[in-house]
Amino acid sequence: MSDTEDMTRLILATRNTGKITELRAILADAGLSHELVGADAYPEIPDVKETGVTFAENALLKAHALAQATGLPAVADDSGLCVEVLGGAPGIFSARWAGRHGDDQANLDLLLAQLSDIDDPQRAAYFACAAALALPDGTERVVEGRLTGTLRHAPAGTHGFGYDPILQPDGETRTCAELTPAEKNAISHRGKAFRALAPIVQELLG
Ligand code: IMP
Repeated sequence: MSDTEDMTRLILATRNTGKITELRAILADAGLSHELVGADAYPEIPDVKETGVTFAENALLKAHALAQATGLPAVADDSGLCVEVLGGAPGIFSARWAGRHGDDQANLDLLLAQLSDIDDPQRAAYFACAAALALPDGTERVVEGRLTGTLRHAPAGTHGFGYDPILQPDGETRTCAELTPAEKNAISHRGKAFRALAPIVQELLG
């Protein structure tokens, strides 16, 4: 069977092995029996430029590019932190808020400095994740998950990545970086988005 006809395999648009493991677990828990392949299995395919202006647009761009390049159904996500008092920023710029892509410490330090005068009642924020499915024939679906909370004034915790040390989820006394990975996956924006996408994948791919 050629890749073009193969609907039993699903490709995940990430080369990050931690993320691949996490998404495999979420989709398997949701009952998907498809073989999940990370984009690292296709090193020749270039990364897509994230030119969209919403999480959903960027997730769809990545999923479509991968589905077209491989002939396989593709799943992609895009995520970030949205701060209410900043009108939703850093948003899609979360990974490069301080200028250099992926400099988590600089991004977090800059955000804390920008919010230094803002008191607790105005420190509401949420992580958002758009999860997209694209088929080689152009069919697309996208869903979003959120994890709402409040921003701390100083980082706490050593787990996780990015802005985890400063987001305290609603109903929690700990930051995301003080939760275990399993505790965070159970409530996270990414977990919610992919758990919502799983039945859609099942419906479209069988
Ligand atoms: P990406 O969607 O993996 O590219 O993530 C974009 C950026 O959003 C990351 O670099 C982090 O700064 C931030 N981010 C997204 N999800 C999380 C999370 O679960 N914890 C902390 N930061 C996150």
